[in-house]
Amino acid sequence: MYQLSGIFMNYIEQNIKQLFKIVPPHVSIVAVSKTHPLSAIEAAYHCGIRIFGENKVQELISKATSVNVAAQWHMIGHLQTNKVKKLLPYVSLIHSVDSLKLAKEINKEAQKLNKIIPCLLQVHIAQEENKFGFDENELFQFLENPERTTFTHILICGLMGIASLTDNKQQIRSEFKKLKNLFDDIKNSYFPNNNNFKELSMGMTGDFEIAIEEGSTMIRVGSFIFGQRNY
Ligand SMILES: *Cc1c(COP(=O)(O)O)cnc(C)c1O
Repeated sequence: MYQLSGIFMNYIEQNIKQLFKIVPPHVSIVAVSKTHPLSAIEAAYHCGIRIFGENKVQELISKATSVNVAAQWHMIGHLQTNKVKKLLPYVSLIHSVDSLKLAKEINKEAQKLNKIIPCLLQVHIAQEENKFGFDENELFQFLENPERTTFTHILICGLMGIASLTDNKQQIRSEFKKLKNLFDDIKNSYFPNNNNFKELSMGMTGDFEIAIEEGSTMIRVGSFIFGQRNY
């Protein structure tokens, strides 16, 4: 990983200041630091960012164990069941729970650690086929599954979704609206008196302003803060 020059630190600082101006205080910012070095993470931390998102287990662990600041780590990428055990000691929220099998594994490993792991259910809202997440039917099947209520070491805190990669703002807005409606339905039907079910993770660099207008409580922003990724 490369070292940051002072100029690049300053670039990160300006971007974060800008972000704090746009994002209302009730919306959490997850700084997506994938591919970026520890020095960038530390610079962002010193500008007030506390939560960092990674999409690969190994990268998350290696950063979480090396960084010199008290960052919180969110897993935002697809999670394989065989990597759950390694991940759990380092993660404070998993955005990408997309199957009963995965939830079961998280619960099992969390129990061994005597930890309760906050999780979001990822919903497939985009047109692209290659994105992960429950479709609507699968989501309700999961919620209706009696086994789900035996997961004592998972805290279901809300939903996550990724909009289509498109310039069509109406399309993006309608996908976020759909997710927000689903969130409200599920809240009312399954978690009416549960204050933990409150997060709606939607919005990235290209669409977070629309997501916030449509009810996002948590945005996952990488390029806006750190610049473009090369890979
Ligand atoms: C990479 C990534 C982001 C951030 O993307 P940017 O466009 O750089 O803001 C957000 N969410 C997920 C799931 C990602 O993988």
